[in-house]
Amino acid sequence: MICDNITIENGILYFAGQDTTRLAETYGTPLYLMDEDKIREKCRVYKHAFETHFGPSAQPLYASKANSFKRIYEIMKEEGMGIDVVSSGEIYTALRAGFDLSHAYFHSNNKTDEDIRYAMENGVGYFVADNAEEVKAVEAEAARRGICQKLLLRLTPGIDPHTYEAIATGKVDSKFGSAIETGQAEEITVFTLAQPHVELVGFHCHVGSQVFGEDIFERAAVVMLEFMAKMKEKYGFSAPMLDLGGGYGVRYVARDPYLDIETKVGQVAAVIRGTCERLHMAVPEIHMEPGRSIVADAGMTLYTVGTVKKIPGYKNYVSIDGGMTDNPRFALYGSDYTCLPANKMDEARDFTCSVVGRCCESGDIIQEHVMMPSSIGRGDIVAVCTTGAYNYSMASNYNRLCRPPIVMLSGGKHYVAVRRESFEDLCRNDV
Ligand SMILES: *Cc1c(COP(=O)(O)O)cnc(C)c1O
Repeated sequence: MICDNITIENGILYFAGQDTTRLAETYGTPLYLMDEDKIREKCRVYKHAFETHFGPSAQPLYASKANSFKRIYEIMKEEGMGIDVVSSGEIYTALRAGFDLSHAYFHSNNKTDEDIRYAMENGVGYFVADNAEEVKAVEAEAARRGICQKLLLRLTPGIDPHTYEAIATGKVDSKFGSAIETGQAEEITVFTLAQPHVELVGFHCHVGSQVFGEDIFERAAVVMLEFMAKMKEKYGFSAPMLDLGGGYGVRYVARDPYLDIETKVGQVAAVIRGTCERLHMAVPEIHMEPGRSIVADAGMTLYTVGTVKKIPGYKNYVSIDGGMTDNPRFALYGSDYTCLPANKMDEARDFTCSVVGRCCESGDIIQEHVMMPSSIGRGDIVAVCTTGAYNYSMASNYNRLCRPPIVMLSGGKHYVAVRRESFEDLCRNDV
């Protein structure tokens, strides 16, 4: 199986040691399951790797846009993780969970004035400014409050996109960050250092997501460290922090490689140490911001099959009771997913079909070219694996569908962390 929390017993699919068909019966479908023990295990892997390779001051930050709800912030707090947030809504949710926001990093390429006020009012520890305009806005608000706001600058290291196609966000022409190559990174650094109510504490980059490339983080680290050395040489500014962003890939399908986080972090650390030595600089405090690789394979979505449509000579459709409303990723960018017949795991899978949702959109597809048992039909349960990241957090109410609940699985027990939306919820803001 693509992850060790997925097993089969008597033809039934188990997730985190629990019978998925019984969970579907208990809670109804569509249903998001989250393996809490897996989330905690991933946090500990990152924490341990960071302590081992970067020292005690280094901190992994959970990029909470991957899956944001109260319970997850409680788990991050308990595991001693920092967090990334990208909106006032995420800040609010973290606050509701009692998360200490002095360990929060506020990202996004366009923070509104209201966001900036809200974040400062609630004591968000760090801003990660995308551009000079944002630094100005942060400076103005900090001045108004008579405080000095800690801030990092998001830079684009401009790693050759032709060699590594997946890293869309680190390119020079990205909408995110200020490019080192064009001189804008240096300009914004000088500008920020001159602001009296902003304390520049470091630099940030995020090269992309679902990254498997051999040495992408290493190359980004070298470019960033060389820039930091230049800032020290030219302006006497030694930045204490370097944040290398998120992006490690996960296995959605069997052909995806498995990344060993401990090993990967060790390799990046070795390059950082070597580069700092070469540049005669102290090793900065290192941060990384994994989102997907913390929560993706802790998630699974269960659906009930409705219509099975066979169009002889063309294709077959298996329709499920959710769709792009709870998982828009295939519709957005053709993402791979593994779909399994949860109650028929012992039957041969010889029926090729597209697993499609119930929305009024032809593009409402979960996955194409899926192999299912030929007996698949109304009432069967389909499980979609690795849905813990960018599913619930991207969900919508299109077609007035209610968002599914999130049920947490831990130590053989299950509990609701997010309730299923009701019709009442759908009309809550209708006046
Ligand atoms: C999306 C994002 C992350 C997390 O990326 P993953 O691929 O989920 O690990 C981290 N940092 C920033 C700035 C991001 O935009």
